[in-house]
Amino acid sequence: MPSTTPKKHRRPGAHPAAKGTETEIGRTRRARRVNRTLALTFPDAHAELDFSNPLELLVATVLSAQTTDARVNMVTPALFAAYPTAHAYAEANQAEVEEIIRSTGFFRSKAKNLIGLGQTLVADFGGEVPTALEDLVTLPGVGRKTAHVVRGNAFGLPGLTVDTHFQRLVKRLMLTEETDPVKIEHAVADLIERREWTMFSHRIIFHGRRICHARKPACGVCPIAFDCPSFGAGPTEPEEAADLVTGPERDHILGMA
Ligand code: SF4
Repeated sequence: MPSTTPKKHRRPGAHPAAKGTETEIGRTRRARRVNRTLALTFPDAHAELDFSNPLELLVATVLSAQTTDARVNMVTPALFAAYPTAHAYAEANQAEVEEIIRSTGFFRSKAKNLIGLGQTLVADFGGEVPTALEDLVTLPGVGRKTAHVVRGNAFGLPGLTVDTHFQRLVKRLMLTEETDPVKIEHAVADLIERREWTMFSHRIIFHGRRICHARKPACGVCPIAFDCPSFGAGPTEPEEAADLVTGPERDHILGMA
């Protein structure tokens, strides 16, 4: 892959997208360049939920609503050991499931969803996790976001996961003016090559968690600063920005800056 890491940034507000003069082709090229640069920044981008089969990822993703992946990863070893199949969830005791997943928050409705999930999988899909988006979204607690996570990561099918980080980043990067998650998904799908959808989601989410934080993004060391119309939303001084970068890739990121 050719090195596409931009070395410079523009004056805050000077980006064509910020001025409203960017063409459609310009936006597509920029989105793909951002994807390539983030691929160099986060070569190990991946789903941060632990799982070993589609059912486990489905369950972990349902649990990840309103909490962190790290928190979910703390409870899933016990949960997966106690309920290894859809049948096991279908027949589970609600209070026992609640006890295991309590620390993930909203544990009553999540436990109810997991049992309902098992029952629907058994009743409608022979106890197996379906691959089709329209089937996945019929499961309790499963929306498009969860369906795409499962399709992209457990089945290797291209899927754009529009979570809160993704929505925030797409807005900052001015890749679309849409605000509805489904419309954002379709707009970004038009910009990014289909085969890249799953990895683009991971890279954007990694970027949002480690560099482009909601309150104080690390603009001064951001590898996609040149392509970002919101450069200047956070500190632009490299030293101050460097302190804001988090995660195991920190040294690598600062080395690219
Ligand atoms: S960190 Fe700053 S420059 Fe980088 S994507 Fe976020 S807002 Fe843009």
